[in-house]
Amino acid sequence: MSTSRRQFLTRSTLAGAAVAAGAGPTIASAAAAAKPAILGGKPVHQGGWQTWPVWKPEWEAEMLKVCRSGKWNQAAGGAVAEFQQRWSELLGARRCLATSSGTTALITALHVVGVDAGDEVIVSPYTFIASYNAILAHKALPVLADTDPATLNIDPASIAPRITDRTRAVMPVHIFGLPCDMDPVNAIARAKGLRVVEDACQAWLAEYKGRKCGTLGELGCFSFQQSKHIPAGEGGAITGMDADLVDRCDSYHNCGRSVGNFKGNGFFTRGSNFRLTQFQGVVLLQQIEKLVAETARRREAAAYLNDQLGRIPGITPVRVPENSRGVYHLYPVRYDAAAFGGLSRDVFLRALGAEGIPGSAVYKEQYFDGIFDEAIASRGFQRLFPAERLKAFRDSFRELRGNRATCASVVALPQTVLLADRPALDHVVEAFARLQARSADLVAAKLKG
Ligand SMILES: *Cc1c(COP(=O)(O)O)cnc(C)c1O
Repeated sequence: MSTSRRQFLTRSTLAGAAVAAGAGPTIASAAAAAKPAILGGKPVHQGGWQTWPVWKPEWEAEMLKVCRSGKWNQAAGGAVAEFQQRWSELLGARRCLATSSGTTALITALHVVGVDAGDEVIVSPYTFIASYNAILAHKALPVLADTDPATLNIDPASIAPRITDRTRAVMPVHIFGLPCDMDPVNAIARAKGLRVVEDACQAWLAEYKGRKCGTLGELGCFSFQQSKHIPAGEGGAITGMDADLVDRCDSYHNCGRSVGNFKGNGFFTRGSNFRLTQFQGVVLLQQIEKLVAETARRREAAAYLNDQLGRIPGITPVRVPENSRGVYHLYPVRYDAAAFGGLSRDVFLRALGAEGIPGSAVYKEQYFDGIFDEAIASRGFQRLFPAERLKAFRDSFRELRGNRATCASVVALPQTVLLADRPALDHVVEAFARLQARSADLVAAKLKG
């Protein structure tokens, strides 16, 4: 027997139930059997984590140049134009347009593909609320597809039954930067004449079958808000393979001015002001190399955690489509309370936090939280949709079984954890293993979530 095998056996005995029989070596060690911090033990991790966002003094000279130039808005070309060029090259997109936010990118893209008042857009329910809001902004109905709990993304089979004669577009979301299965989504859309806008707001550099998210539908939308992997405080972008569509986006985001092939005479089309400033453009440009390097680190860390945490009973890593690569805006796993002796997810998360590992349950079944009730009750929606349609829409939320299971089981770590070194990642594994090994004690302590 090799030394490592013998060590493993000793360790796994100590770690008790923490290690699935025959699952092979894990880093679970004696520490995994120690008393959980929430019950008075010593926390596994005490070093804290990377804070976010990150500012580097060497970026300041470029920022000062913009300040002193007096050319602060995007009309000057400058950093915004350069960022658009770099972002489209990085993604392999034909064109890129910077916008003021991910939300305004989505609103613009939906307008350009023709989503109008009284239309329906099929969207993934498991997403940040802004995905719903971008559709509601057009007085269109966000019809909720179901979620595949194995991927956390849209279940493509749930799209077709939701198509009505009002359906105009499908808006899949690559949640947490995990690419959703776009081939079947595009196939249904093509067959039924629907437009496709990707909500890639968390999917900077994510890849589906060798192509970047944001280039797989007709238009892809990104966010550069404070918490995102390439933050500018606020900011967004639209990418596309069709230059004419992106020209139309450009026009809409710039008060309806004529742009490129989309000719007109002055202000000739509806529009808004969703422009990015040069200050934000500079902040984004400085971070491109950083994003590329950190994306590789996050992927490597996520692969390691998938391997290690996947050996712990009751923890299931999330699946991505074949030949595809996630970028992990959050690092999610699925938590099965039954395999933890009935320890509720909320108490598990509290206990995890006590070990120095920040975790969250992320999205709830937020469609029950009032946003849609308010929309349905509004004069506009009541004028635009028959009462039966609005009732059926409201009733349909109860049928989202896959999404309910998803919302009930996700445990996610912030992306900054994935930037930590290997010993810190091992702390994450140890904390999960410890809570598994001591789940009976945690249940017996009758802690509140
Ligand atoms: C962040 C985000 C948005 C909205 O982006 P903002 O820049 O905050 O407007 C939309 N969809 C998803 C999935 C997001 O994560």
